[in-house]
Amino acid sequence: MRFLPGGKGSRGEPGKDGTAIVFTTESKFNFNCHHDLSCFTQCCREINIFLTPYDVLRMKNHLQMTSGEFLQKYTAALIAENTGLPVVLLKMDEKTGRCPFVTEKGCQIYPDRPWSCRMYPLNQDENGNYGLAADHTRCFGLNENREWRIGEWLADQGLDVYNEVEALFGKIGEQLKSSGHKIRNPKIQDMYYTACYDLDKFKRFIFESSFLKVFEVDRETIEKIKADELELLKFAFRWVLFGVADNKSFKIKDEVLEAKRRALGKKA
Ligand code: SF4
Ligand code: SF4
Repeated sequence: MRFLPGGKGSRGEPGKDGTAIVFTTESKFNFNCHHDLSCFTQCCREINIFLTPYDVLRMKNHLQMTSGEFLQKYTAALIAENTGLPVVLLKMDEKTGRCPFVTEKGCQIYPDRPWSCRMYPLNQDENGNYGLAADHTRCFGLNENREWRIGEWLADQGLDVYNEVEALFGKIGEQLKSSGHKIRNPKIQDMYYTACYDLDKFKRFIFESSFLKVFEVDRETIEKIKADELELLKFAFRWVLFGVADNKSFKIKDEVLEAKRRALGKKA
């Protein structure tokens, strides 16, 4: 999610009584962003943009880079305090504070811009509530006449697929929170980071290690994850759930378990 400085979890501008205004998908707002506004591209600087796994997938493909190259060049990884899981932050230019993808003409990766940039000038908090992330004294698009319903804006910005993938991804954090478990093992943190963000490396792990010899994965799934990165990402979420939340989403092959039992029996 994209959080403005000092605005993590911000749910919109305060109303007259000082409380935040929370929108539903039927709520309306005025907005039209265009080149003629004096604020044009000013919002693409000095901002924290946390990237989702699907953001990374879309952006690295737009730039025709591997996930490893993209992560190394454009992002920094931090550990979330509540879960102990890595989160990925888009690095702003150290000197100018600008996003590496902004140009005078606008966003260089516009068709594959991240979730939070699609959502802007709105934001969504951890409970799924929508609010205004921008302030009309700085984001002049909010003073324009074009009126949107929130639901119409979400569809216009192509957010459906992002939200669908995000809902699957969110299950990992939910499971961890409900178990009250915090990840402290660096190996698990690394596994999570690779599976969720470094998809090309995760693919090598699946197809070039003993993974498919150890775990039961049907032929149809194998073909799907080989050919389709989105399917591979969903598979990665399942794998992470198995690893961090002890989910029963993967089964070790019977013959592997039997061989292990025999080996232990011989030792004993
Ligand atoms: S500040 Fe608002 S209107 Fe101005 S460029 Fe950014 S999103 Fe568009
Ligand atoms: S990715 Fe594009 S829209 Fe988002 S901050 Fe960078 S330039 Fe702006």
